[in-house]
Amino acid sequence: MASTIVWLRDDLRLDDNPALAAAATLPDPLTVVYILDEDSPGIRPLGAATKWWLHHSLSALAAGLEAHGSRLLLRRGSAARVIKDLAAETGASRLYWNRRYSQPERTIDDGIREWAAGQDIEAASFQANLLFEPWTVRTGSGGPYKVFTPFWRSCLDGADPRLPADPPGKLPRPAAGSSGRPLTGDRLDSWRLLPRHPDWSGGLGATWTPGEDGAHERLEEFLDSPVEDYARGRDLPGVEGTSRLSPHLRFGEISPFRVWHALRERFPRHAPADVGIFRSELGWREFCWQLLYENPDLATQNYRPEFDRFAWQTPSDAELKAWQQGRTGYPLVDAGMRQLWQTGWMHNRVRMAAASFLVKNMLADWRLGEAWFWDTLVDADAANNPANWQWVAGSGADASPYFRIFNPVTQSRKFDAGGSYLRSYVPELAELDDRTVHEPWRNPEAASGYPEPLVGLQESRERALETYQRLKDG
Ligand code: FAD
Repeated sequence: MASTIVWLRDDLRLDDNPALAAAATLPDPLTVVYILDEDSPGIRPLGAATKWWLHHSLSALAAGLEAHGSRLLLRRGSAARVIKDLAAETGASRLYWNRRYSQPERTIDDGIREWAAGQDIEAASFQANLLFEPWTVRTGSGGPYKVFTPFWRSCLDGADPRLPADPPGKLPRPAAGSSGRPLTGDRLDSWRLLPRHPDWSGGLGATWTPGEDGAHERLEEFLDSPVEDYARGRDLPGVEGTSRLSPHLRFGEISPFRVWHALRERFPRHAPADVGIFRSELGWREFCWQLLYENPDLATQNYRPEFDRFAWQTPSDAELKAWQQGRTGYPLVDAGMRQLWQTGWMHNRVRMAAASFLVKNMLADWRLGEAWFWDTLVDADAANNPANWQWVAGSGADASPYFRIFNPVTQSRKFDAGGSYLRSYVPELAELDDRTVHEPWRNPEAASGYPEPLVGLQESRERALETYQRLKDG
């Protein structure tokens, strides 16, 4: 008897899920599977924060599928092996998935598609996670864009992204194994995705609701007001001026098509400029994915190869730990790094300042920072993370010019003038007034327990510029 497998990956949702929607139109029994693949060659292991997220997201997805008459099967191992076994167990005649765009994953998918063709299994893939697939956005000469603005203009000049589809009603009944018994899968707990000793995830649990309901709530909250002041609010780390959709988008708990059209519905005619700016942030996500698609080694290789000669300095363990743990002596950097540790997320402006501090003031290789963010961000994303690190380091596409070195003091004075963000993550600064909270070394008694600056801003800036000059001089 015919049966369908839907293999979910970075698309942990029922809403606007084309692979699932296609299976739902068929009468045949259905297997919805998620595979924890740590075995296929080239797969980057998840970081600790994304493991935490994945656990809760899968749990929410399983409940959602059950409410629609289906179930989520969990299996672990090399994806190709698991799919082949599952197809044999269920006698599958169709295999559906939504496309993914990074290289090891594409190689796996191509291999499975080829195998399926030989088995007379119909393998079909769908567009779900990017508004504009990388190969569809091309320059006049047919190559990929290297600069964001023309890339995004070209996206906007084309057809509007398709409308999102509502979640399916009742899903087909779950497929049985060859013996007629229900298929056996792993218990989510057995994957041990949650931290145990110590369990550091309290702050994450207090901040986030993984899963598609949590994603839709975030979107609604954002549309209810912050979006209309996004141009200003997105720069202020002390206010909730951004959507905080990033981990939900990372795991595909919300469709970018849903977000796009929710903006259209909310602002049918004259959308404020803020909406256009927010849309262009979604555009940066598309651009980063296009970069990764074209440059599969984006997380390990400089996009601009001349940076292979850059004289990074290896920080001591103590220096690197001071940055990771928010003890650099610069309040904005430290507040950001502690926000990251406590909540798995950091405000974008602070990400830029903290990253610039590591790669320019400390002159450390951007890959060290990228790896730390990969481990600690709940939104750690295979494209956005390396592309943004390379952007800050100057080695990336359309990168920030090297001489742009964020000054953490000027930045916090400008974007957290009253110091509310600084004080909320760095309690040692609670007694400082609004002026010295940005420069605690001016009142060391009131900032007792807070470290002295790890490096001087002026001399470290000069050292960075000289190092860059040497690179330019060849
Ligand atoms: P909003 O301002 O509400 O933006 C909406 C969405 O647009 C985001 O959810 C995200 O999907 C996308 N977006 C926004 N800014 C960017 C950007 N600069 N590049 C790519 N997409 C963007 N973002 C990640 O999703 N994952 C990462 O691993 C990641 N690592 C980063 C590392 C560094 C060093 C820097 C400077 C930025 C990084 N970003 C990353 C980009 C950005 O900081 C986050 O996307 C943003 O802070 C998420 O918060 P938000 O959802 O409230 O964003």
